[in-house]
This record gives sequence, C-alpha cells and structure tokens, in this order.
Amino acid sequence: MQDYIHFAEKNGIILEDSGFCQFCGAKTERGIHECLEIFNFGFSGVDYAKPENLEFKFLVVDSHTLQHPEIHGRWNNHFHLTRMTLVLKEKISWTYELSPILSNTLKEYKITHPSEVLTPPKIGHRGKITTSDVLLAQENSLECKNLIRKWAEEVFLSWQEHHHTVDSIAQSFLSNRKQHITY
Ligand SMILES: [Zn+2]
Repeated sequence: MQDYIHFAEKNGIILEDSGFCQFCGAKTERGIHECLEIFNFGFSGVDYAKPENLEFKFLVVDSHTLQHPEIHGRWNNHFHLTRMTLVLKEKISWTYELSPILSNTLKEYKITHPSEVLTPPKIGHRGKITTSDVLLAQENSLECKNLIRKWAEEVFLSWQEHHHTVDSIAQSFLSNRKQHITY
C-alpha cells in the first residue's frame, strides 16, 4: 500500500478518485492521485538537476506537503514549515546536506514536545495556487519559477498560526548548523 493511502486512512480521510484534488483544489480529473503525479513528475521549465534550481525543488516539496497534510505523518508539518521559515525568512540556500541537520534538530525537539500537533489550516485555506496552475506555466521557465515562489509564499502564510512555534525550531537548527560547520 502506498504511503499516502495509508496516512489518509489513518487520518480517517476517504480519498476521492475523480474530480479536482480534494485537498488543494488542483484542476485534475483523478483527484489527489493525479495531483501527486504532477508533483512527482516535476515541471519541465525547472530542471532540478541544475544546482541553481534546487531551491525550487525544496519549495515545491514543502508547498505540496503543507497543502496535503492529511496524507503525511504529523511531524512532517514541523519539518516542512520550519524549512520554509529558513528558506523564505532566513534566506538560507537549502541543500541536501542541511536536511539531516533539520531532522536531528526536530528529533531533539520532539523529546520535549512529544504531543505537539500543528493543526493545519482548513481545506481550501492553504493557498490558492496548486500543482495544476504550476503545470500550466511550466513551459516558461521564469514564469514557472515565479509561480512556484508565489505558491510557497501563499502556503507558508496560510500556516501563520504556527510560525511562532517553528521559529524556535529554526533558531535551534541555525545553532546546530553552526556547530556542524565548526566541528
Ligand atoms: Zn492537491
């Protein structure tokens, strides 16, 4: 069984197999399944293999995950919202090497906050831009990148209630990263 189906079941959500995506409203014919396919396939205007495009890959992952929290584990919200804080607010140029440092920071955080839940914004209130909008813009690289950034900013803003919580995790990450660089 695929992970997302498992998480939806765990969260008591029945996945709809047709129509628009029930979570983000993307204009699909096969609902969340197609929305995930668009997400997994990527966008032709942004070649993730190029180092300068890497930031867009992370923004897409964070935006999509936070628009679809019902199909992920609950600590994913902490991870992706903190990363968005670091990228959008702290202007960190994210790389693959930084993700394990954030995971470890979160592991420490979980020990002192074992029951914390970041309740997602209501469905339909997690930013208006969706995968199908970015797909429509994919041919034009600049337009596509601009839209991805706007998408990320909208989703990030919609989780505003929890910014204060993840700000503290972001600060811990920054000091852990410093140690990582020093030693
Ligand atoms: Zn969707």
